[in-house]
Amino acid sequence: MKLDKAPICPHCKKDTEKYDVYPWDGVGWGVPFLYICFNDNCPFFVRGQKHMMENYGQVASYRYMVYPDTGQEDTIVAANPKLMEARMAALKTQPDEPETEN
Ligand SMILES: [Zn+2]
Repeated sequence: MKLDKAPICPHCKKDTEKYDVYPWDGVGWGVPFLYICFNDNCPFFVRGQKHMMENYGQVASYRYMVYPDTGQEDTIVAANPKLMEARMAALKTQPDEPETEN
C-alpha cells in the first residue's frame, strides 16, 4: 500500500522522517526516498547499538525504515557519523587499507 505521509515508528511512537537516498543508493532501494526513524532514543535503535557493540565491537546500529511505495517495513544500518569521519581520515592516510577494522 502506497503511503501519502510519514508513518509512525512502532518502536518509539515518533514520526519517521523522509530520507532521500543517493542516486547510487536508489538503484538498490528502488525508491527515491525512504521513511526512517531518526530518533536516537528509539528502543529499536538503542537495542541495535548494544547488539553491534557486543557482537562486532562497532559503534553502529539499525534504524526502523518503511518503503513509501509499498508501506513495507525494513531496517537500515546506521553507522555512527563520528566513526565515519574517523574512518575517512584514516583512509586518507592509508589509501590501500582493506575494508576490515583492526
Ligand atoms: Zn523509532
